[in-house]
Amino acid sequence: MSTQSARTRAPKVAVVPGDGIGQEVIAQGVRLIAALAPDIEVEWFDLGAERYLRDGTTLPDDVFARWQAEFDAVYLGALGDPRVPSNVHAKDILLGSRFRLDLYINQRPIRLLDARRCPLKGKGPQDVDIMVFRENTEDLYTGVGGTFKEGTADEVAQELCIATRKGVERIIRAAFAWARANGKTRVCMSDKSNAMRFTGGLWQRTFKLVAAEYPEITASHLYVDVLAMELVRAPERFEVIVTSNLFGDIITDLGAILQGGIGLACSGNIHPGRLSLFEPVHGSAPDIAGKGIANPMAAFLTAGQLLSHLGRPELEARIGEAVRGALLADEVTPELGGTLSTAQVGDAVLARL
Ligand code: ATP
Repeated sequence: MSTQSARTRAPKVAVVPGDGIGQEVIAQGVRLIAALAPDIEVEWFDLGAERYLRDGTTLPDDVFARWQAEFDAVYLGALGDPRVPSNVHAKDILLGSRFRLDLYINQRPIRLLDARRCPLKGKGPQDVDIMVFRENTEDLYTGVGGTFKEGTADEVAQELCIATRKGVERIIRAAFAWARANGKTRVCMSDKSNAMRFTGGLWQRTFKLVAAEYPEITASHLYVDVLAMELVRAPERFEVIVTSNLFGDIITDLGAILQGGIGLACSGNIHPGRLSLFEPVHGSAPDIAGKGIANPMAAFLTAGQLLSHLGRPELEARIGEAVRGALLADEVTPELGGTLSTAQVGDAVLARL
């Protein structure tokens, strides 16, 4: 696969700037990658709402085949445009890649860089530093289900919650392996096994089995409702959290607010050792698109995750420190109370590097 062959050639990154502010923040992110890792080859792909409206293309098979054969990572901006209400391009590009590439890890750091950005009283960067492993291919998000007597008073709707031993085991393993590799000593699994007996039971049993292989790590469990409360009350309790697709979706958005807002949240959709996809968490934000005021920091932190995936964790750390420095110096865009443009924040962070 591509990442293996990366050892004998320069890594290659496919860039899909996407829609709205995605294009603005990804342009800055690519600047950053070029400055920090000039050997990395970057190729831009014209995919997104504009392209779809122009010729109906979402993610062509030949492009997807090239990504698989030649590239090590995809760097994706947001997808979403009011002119494409069906969002079909986003479904094909983002969700299609997640499933077709089997990107089973959604890795979302919840890391507070500047205490002033945290809505919790008295909490600082030492209290909010959590890595969430969200299962990314199963659960309630597979689209298995249907409706019966749709649109009538007797309508029935069903959505199937899918958990497989393979799927649950590999995400739990990824969480423990990451914890061990990064000197963490606590992994918390979260489910709703008191109400969801069958899938919850599988998560419980599998978690215990895998945890036994990591005796130096304290394995704990919280129901997801309790986890939500605890994340607000005492985020310092957590180092690594592993959970299912739906619960992870919700918990990580809560986490984005703890770390200072959606403009600072990054994510990786990962299959270790294979082509993986990295995207800032925020959407295309049509309300501010084209104004040059989108915060590029999430895209920078996402670039850091991507570089770490390509075997350069030291660059991720440097990007984190540069973003932290810019935040502390109030070199920020308007949504964080600053006056800088997207490009000026890019300049500020690059200057710190
Ligand atoms: P979608 O996910 O459907 O594309 P969206 O862009 O409307 O949605 P979010 O990403 O959740 O949704 O953003 C909500 C609002 O937060 C945006 O409309 C915008 O005002 C603000 N916002 C999001 N990301 C940023 C950013 N990087 N910089 C500045 N503001 C942002």
